[in-house]
Amino acid sequence: MSEDYYVILAGGVGAAKFIEGLVNVVKPELLKIIVNTGDDIELFGLKICPDLDIITYTLANLVDKEKGWGFVDETYNCLRILKTYYETGWFNAGDKDLATHIYRTDLFTRGYTKAQITEMICKKLGVKSQLIPMCNETVETFIGTHDGEIHFEEYYIKERCEPEVLDVKFKGIENVKPVNGILDYIKNARKILICPSNPIVSIGTILQVPKIKKTLMKEKSKVFAISPIIEGAAVKGPAAPLMQALGLEVSCVGVATFYKEFLEHFIIDNKDCKLKPRIEELGINAYCYDTLMINLKKKRNLAQFIINL
Ligand code: GDP
Repeated sequence: MSEDYYVILAGGVGAAKFIEGLVNVVKPELLKIIVNTGDDIELFGLKICPDLDIITYTLANLVDKEKGWGFVDETYNCLRILKTYYETGWFNAGDKDLATHIYRTDLFTRGYTKAQITEMICKKLGVKSQLIPMCNETVETFIGTHDGEIHFEEYYIKERCEPEVLDVKFKGIENVKPVNGILDYIKNARKILICPSNPIVSIGTILQVPKIKKTLMKEKSKVFAISPIIEGAAVKGPAAPLMQALGLEVSCVGVATFYKEFLEHFIIDNKDCKLKPRIEELGINAYCYDTLMINLKKKRNLAQFIINL
């Protein structure tokens, strides 16, 4: 029996835009958001969870909407000094953001799990949806380049996605467990919504957590995804080179191919409607809609469209 809530699989910026729309059309309390933690990194002795923070700040209405991440009205005084001490000053941690990393690290030191800490941060910041890290254990995404492996955040921020991507590794993923409750939530959800997030290093990481993909496969009829690729390109970020490295076509068809074992409903952009028959050949129902979320109205409309399907 389906219960009256939605499970959302989310990365960072792309996911946050969609979720901002979603909380305008359904009660935030009805969302159980499973968030990628493969981008997590430890810098300056602090535990940083970029995707969890982006979703948290967005739902707390504290996010810098222009950038899509970090706090609004941020300052960088602490980072300026950190740069004199560390070589990892390329990570854009603002003063307010560092407060979250300090609080999270303090709670880790005191023995709390990532799931408990996420709940505590959300509560303090007034987030009403339930945010759940995909696992409590550490998983780190590494990008293989001609100059060796680098952490995904280093590839993304420091190297600006310039090195050629040879492969992608999720270090530690074999030994993790989904956070308690995730599998039951997927089984009992009214719908499972996959955000327009990076299919390889956001959604792909969640899918590699043991048992999550298998559970989604059993609930296929309830799984809806939005393509993060429009007209053969990512709206932002390195989805294209990462898909290429895995031998996928860089298009909504490539994303559908990657998700096809557990996906029944796929929303592609109006601009890609000509590709609908190719998606349907994969046994997936395709729907065309304006998926470029450039303002709140568009975010809300896209969310309403999926809820109504
Ligand atoms: P990140 O971890 O912060 O990079 O964020 P995500 O993984 O959630 O999102 C990155 C993906 O979101 C990219 O592949 C973008 O193409 C996609 N994306 C961002 N904005 C939009 C949008 O307005 N519409 C669609 N369809 N995709 C988007």
